Amino acid sequence: MCGIIGFAGRENAVPIIVEGLKRLEYRGYDSAGIAVYDGAKFAVTKKKGRLAELANEVDTNPISGNTGIGHTRWATHGEPSDINSHPHLGSGSRIAIVHNGIIENYKQLKEWLEGKGIKFVSQTDSEVIAQLAEHYYDGDLIDTVVKVTAALEGSYALGIMCLDEPNIMVATKKDNPLIVGISSKGNFIASDVPAILSHTNQVYYLDDKEIAILTNEEVKFLNMDKEHVEKSVETISWSLDSAEKGGYAHFMLKEIMEQPKVLRETIQAALAGGDLIEGLDISAFNKIVITACGSAYNAGVVGKYVIERLCRVSVEVELASEFRYKDPIVDDKTLVILISQSGETADTIAAMREAKARGASTLAIVNVVGSTIAKEADHTIYTSAGPEIAVATTKVFSAQLILLYILAVDFAVKLGKLDIEGKERLLAEIGALPDKVNEILESIDDIQKYASQCIGYKSIFFIGRNVDYAIALEGSLKLKEISYIHSEAYAGGELKHGPIALIEDNTLVVAISCCPGLKPKIFSNVEQVISRGAKVLFVGTDSVDEDDKLSLIKLPMVEELFSPSLSVIVLQLFSYYVAANKGLDIDKPRNLAKSVTVE
Ligand code: GLU
Repeated sequence: MCGIIGFAGRENAVPIIVEGLKRLEYRGYDSAGIAVYDGAKFAVTKKKGRLAELANEVDTNPISGNTGIGHTRWATHGEPSDINSHPHLGSGSRIAIVHNGIIENYKQLKEWLEGKGIKFVSQTDSEVIAQLAEHYYDGDLIDTVVKVTAALEGSYALGIMCLDEPNIMVATKKDNPLIVGISSKGNFIASDVPAILSHTNQVYYLDDKEIAILTNEEVKFLNMDKEHVEKSVETISWSLDSAEKGGYAHFMLKEIMEQPKVLRETIQAALAGGDLIEGLDISAFNKIVITACGSAYNAGVVGKYVIERLCRVSVEVELASEFRYKDPIVDDKTLVILISQSGETADTIAAMREAKARGASTLAIVNVVGSTIAKEADHTIYTSAGPEIAVATTKVFSAQLILLYILAVDFAVKLGKLDIEGKERLLAEIGALPDKVNEILESIDDIQKYASQCIGYKSIFFIGRNVDYAIALEGSLKLKEISYIHSEAYAGGELKHGPIALIEDNTLVVAISCCPGLKPKIFSNVEQVISRGAKVLFVGTDSVDEDDKLSLIKLPMVEELFSPSLSVIVLQLFSYYVAANKGLDIDKPRNLAKSVTVE
């Protein structure tokens, strides 16, 4: 994915675009670029590397213009380089575009255009859009956009400018997000709200195949038949502070520390009267499938344990990238739960559409209001986490867990598996989680101290059983994402079936133990790895006798089903401090992007 911003206004667009790109950098950060109409031509600056490179370049060699587009890239086609950075221009330099997504038929289009003598300069799929637009342009940019998008296969969010109509900017999208913001100083397009929030909180969410036409005075919307589309403007309620670091060294640490508040707000919103999900009759289903990617998938694994235990309904968890291609066994008796922070994850969108096409009902757990999944799913509930900027998720993951617990309780009551007393007890346990998370955050120094001694490990394993295994998956993913230390998670019982062969002197095993009935089992795994040379960090609700091989981080007592909400805090902080002690770029780990809107 990448970040797009465009501005058509009454002042120099360049600083506005640079500032907006800074706030979009979490979406892609291998290169960046800007094109503005300078009164005669497109002035273009593009730089490989972090945004700071581009910002320096436009400081040293200024460009200016009141209408312009900018892009921060996460390369899919063509290496990160100045030339492959966006914006891309047609070979006559009359059309400039920024693109988020993948053009699947770019090779055919490129060959066709090359056959007409058009010379390409980059290796990207995106350049084909600029070249095609320039080829089709005959005096009307809207007509051109309709023609170009009809020829494109794949996904796109596009900002387009034309030298012959220099005061308008046109935007359109398919399967990738794009918003339009309006303000008194001009109008904006952007991939996400933080990019423009310092200028306006009035936004329109563009739907697929809609066209937005912006001038410095007004914004209009058309469909692909060039008919007017009436859209309503939305007011963004969160403040810019939530997209700022607020004195923390990294967004990730800030977002970890925000979790008590996020959990409280998510619980409040979910329990605020009425039916949790109106019109969803859980007794109509004989199976639940949870499908998601990355950390959201790990949240789904926790959800499986909790829902099965409370509801006695079979739950399958599928990676969305596998679900979409596996000829899945779902029908109108299946509830498919989709989990996605951005609501724009390409694989999860495809899984949702596949499930719907097969007659399943879909329920989405999403953070971003107005996103594709939020809009297309039959039912949506929101994690009230506000914007999450660090690429490695923390607070949104925690909010996803909370919603899965509350869903499980709600379903269990409706299915007659839980009486009112049981419901009250479990909801009280959930309600107590924010304070317990706070307690863990107060012992942050112990975790920091322990993590600072762990930067030399070549491999770190995470083990647990039941929900402890589910959260081990997330602990391991978090560590590899930001610290680049090799890591795997195993169900404790699996160790002896293979992975124990990897245990040697320079190995750390993090053992999670919050299920009282399974403590003897996980402890015997701990003894097995210690006797083969490993050191162990024990994260659990019980005490163990510490020695030079075994260290303990003790958690507050908690209902075991909901314990992942506590153990994950320790695992997040552990990963964070390992990465911080290695001096890594924690908020923007190499090769990653926050939400993967491409396949
Ligand atoms: N496919 C385009 C490129 O590689 C855009 C990638 C993106 O959306 O990040 O430049």
